Amino acid sequence: MTPSSFQKRISASASTERDLTKQVEPAGDARDLALFGKAALEGLGLGALAAKLTVTWNSRMRSTAGLAYPNTSQIVLNPKLRGFGWAEVERTLLHELAHLVAHHRCGRRRISPHGPEWRRACTDLGMDNEARCHDLPLPRRKMARRFVYQCPSCATKVERVRLFRRPAACLKCCQTHCGGRYDKRFNLTRVLQQELPLD
Ligand SMILES: [Zn+2]
Ligand SMILES: [Zn+2]
Repeated sequence: MTPSSFQKRISASASTERDLTKQVEPAGDARDLALFGKAALEGLGLGALAAKLTVTWNSRMRSTAGLAYPNTSQIVLNPKLRGFGWAEVERTLLHELAHLVAHHRCGRRRISPHGPEWRRACTDLGMDNEARCHDLPLPRRKMARRFVYQCPSCATKVERVRLFRRPAACLKCCQTHCGGRYDKRFNLTRVLQQELPLD
């Protein structure tokens, strides 16, 4: 996608999606997700961006997993993501954060949505291999999930298509016990394949 078509898409979505940002579910864990995002941004020395960041859920979203609004430093997430486990929520949050980081760093310069600036932001946020797609995992992809991790604290299971490339902590426990900050005590551990229930 060219930068100009991205800009067009951004403006097109700005008009159709603007209402989405107002149709918000009750606060729930969105505030915790915002804290998590703010901590990640502060970790990159982007305190000003962290201060502006807001995260909301919007139940009117269809297959789009998340949206980032660089002008308002806003991230909107699809509540259906919760059905795919917290790792998927976190992944999408970081994907959208990377958009905000890339735009923030580039100021008014136009950049391609999933270009090198975004990739660099993904790497800085700890994601080396992030896909360029915003869509929710579809059933066919769900069937391809082969790896299961479990939180040592709350026993929440997280299914993955690929292995984590670096330690990943249970988002729920980090929110509950650490104010949304990463804590290795809640690092997810791999569950052996033969222990899995069939589905
Ligand atoms: Zn994206
Ligand atoms: Zn947990």
